[in-house]
Amino acid sequence: MHDIFETPVVYLKGVGPKKAGVLKKELDVVTFEDLLYCFPFRYVDKSKIYKVSEVTSDAIWFQLKGRISHLTPVGDKRMKYITAKFTDDSGTIGLVWFRGLSWVKNAFSTDKEYILFGKPSIFRNHYNFVHPELEEFVPGQEELAGQRLEGIYSSTETLKNNGLGSRGISKLMRRLLNQTAASIGETLPEQIINHFQLMGRKEALLNIHFPESLAMIEKATRRLKFEELLFLQLQILQQKIDLQEKIPGLVFNKVGEYLNDFYKNHLPFELTNAQKRVIKEIRGDLKSGKQMNRLLQGDVGSGKTLVALMSMLIALDNGFQSCLMAPTEILATQHFNSIRKMLEKMDVRIALLTGSTKQAVRKTIHKELLDGSLQILIGTHAVIEETVRFQQLGFVVIDEQHRFGVAQRAKLWKKNTITPHVLVMTATPIPRTLAMTLYGNLDVSVIDEMPPGRKAVKTLHFWESKRLRVIGFMREQIKLGRQIYIVYPLIKESEKLDLKNLLDGYESIVRDFPPPDYQVSVLHGRMKSDDKDLEMKRFVDGTTDIMVSTTVIEVGVDVPNASVMIIENAERFGLSQLHQLRGRVGRGAEQSYCILMSGYKLSAEGRKRLEIMVQTNDGFEISEADLQLRGPGDIQGTKQSGMLDFKIANLAKDGELIAKTRKVAGHILDKDPHLATSENKLLKQQLLKISKGKQHYGRIS
Ligand code: ADP
Ligand code: MG
Repeated sequence: MHDIFETPVVYLKGVGPKKAGVLKKELDVVTFEDLLYCFPFRYVDKSKIYKVSEVTSDAIWFQLKGRISHLTPVGDKRMKYITAKFTDDSGTIGLVWFRGLSWVKNAFSTDKEYILFGKPSIFRNHYNFVHPELEEFVPGQEELAGQRLEGIYSSTETLKNNGLGSRGISKLMRRLLNQTAASIGETLPEQIINHFQLMGRKEALLNIHFPESLAMIEKATRRLKFEELLFLQLQILQQKIDLQEKIPGLVFNKVGEYLNDFYKNHLPFELTNAQKRVIKEIRGDLKSGKQMNRLLQGDVGSGKTLVALMSMLIALDNGFQSCLMAPTEILATQHFNSIRKMLEKMDVRIALLTGSTKQAVRKTIHKELLDGSLQILIGTHAVIEETVRFQQLGFVVIDEQHRFGVAQRAKLWKKNTITPHVLVMTATPIPRTLAMTLYGNLDVSVIDEMPPGRKAVKTLHFWESKRLRVIGFMREQIKLGRQIYIVYPLIKESEKLDLKNLLDGYESIVRDFPPPDYQVSVLHGRMKSDDKDLEMKRFVDGTTDIMVSTTVIEVGVDVPNASVMIIENAERFGLSQLHQLRGRVGRGAEQSYCILMSGYKLSAEGRKRLEIMVQTNDGFEISEADLQLRGPGDIQGTKQSGMLDFKIANLAKDGELIAKTRKVAGHILDKDPHLATSENKLLKQQLLKISKGKQHYGRIS
């Protein structure tokens, strides 16, 4: 069966090989369908024709009707630009072209009237139009001028030079729709269309390009977004079903001694309700017979480690080993210490493996992992080395997941013939919409409740000029016995400069806080691991009052007595990083503070970030704000995935539709996992078509 929409775009009248090449290169448009799915990014109201005298703002678009005269090429030997005058009965305004000059030179006739459309610019105190759209005005045949709402397509330099500015694209679209509209079929089952009161596909595609009214644009947009998001969710969820069918899961159906003993006798504190809920979710997964792939989100300090530990104990109860991998040595060591302490009175063998583990110790670890006597391994990347082999690895915890690449994580799974269960923990809250798309093939658990007794961190923003006040405040806090972090930005491109910044800062702090009254530590990535450990230890045990460092302390470090976090050049940090850093304090019973220092030169966005930090402590709120501020393209991990190249939907704005379509997709696949019923025939067809196309949603974890 020939599908007219698969026709190469070169066969559309008006598109020769040259234009086809440009369309492919600039817009990745190959077929009729590709072109049809290039949607306008906004619409302009062309019902009104303005007078030249009314052009009094460079903020809006104007449509004028008039004559072109005084076409003047400018330049000595080579033509550099062309100016002209555009006149109606109210006045005259300048036109300028810098490109396509040889064409412009002969394109207009002084005898004819033209419809001009464009956004004015100001040049030497006068308005003019640079590269306006111009169309000959033909009385009686006012097809374009009479079109009330015109879609504006995004175009590029190259496209424009090939006659494919917004107008050019619009013309192609008109032709394409004239030729194919009758063949536009439906992709959604009738029940869905009825239930959600969606516009039909044909009507939607016609209206998105050539709208009858504003209301129709909205309806068309909603329909097309719904379609796009529904198929995305169907893909993601189907992929998940596929994996679960292919990968058998270890069944952990025993709750035995280890977990019970820990829960009854060694639990250091009452679990929060959120922790209980998440553990229940994990237990459900572990006995389901399917391999668990779960993302555990919880703000810094929400108690993820305990959840990880209790899950690992379930594996032990079922005769399997567990492994926890953290991104840095400091973190791995900290996890090791806190877990060892919690298991102190229990007979569980655990070990720490990092890059600096001594050869002899390493050997023992290797041996004990193989014979099964070592039950829990905690470490850095070192745990994924080839030489590390387990007798029966059943459960893997990956902390701070975005620091690890997919390949690294995959190595861990392969350490058993049957893929172990995987719990990925992240303290960087991911906006719900992202979690449902980017991480859509993982199950997500959220710890949305802090352990009791925590006081919210107070966040303040100070300009550089208030430094003396800040120093005074630091002295007070130290007098109260508290400790302080000072963090300097580290941006890779100028590592040297950053280090200098940090060391200068350190020196000036030592000047303000001289020994022997005060002790100051310094920590940065260039230091030897032994020195780092020493400095960290001195801070953890309270020997030093102030820790001056780069963001190496960003993740996970836990010093409850530290109550002040000072962030230098705070405007240079991203929101999620600021939030992470703030999470280093507020871990004890005392009131904690986060002080954001900045210079006066702030970009609008930088200022907004600091404002948001001052306003809220809620990691999810912050991640949403981050998504709104930066757009989805910049959020961790989205770029390389390529899955967010939406045609019409928008991750930052369409949260509600994303949630809705995910639910719908879930319902559909619950009832009909392989879309085998006739009811879902259309869905299956379309999915097949999509998966044959260029979209690939790779596995994330
Ligand atoms: P994160 O989620 O950032 O990894 P941690 O697991 O490090 O958080 O926990 C932060 C702190 O809270 C730790 O000192 C931990 O001992 C403590 N904690 C965890 N759960 C509870 C709880 N239910 N009640 C009281 N304190 C808890
Ligand atoms: Mg942690």
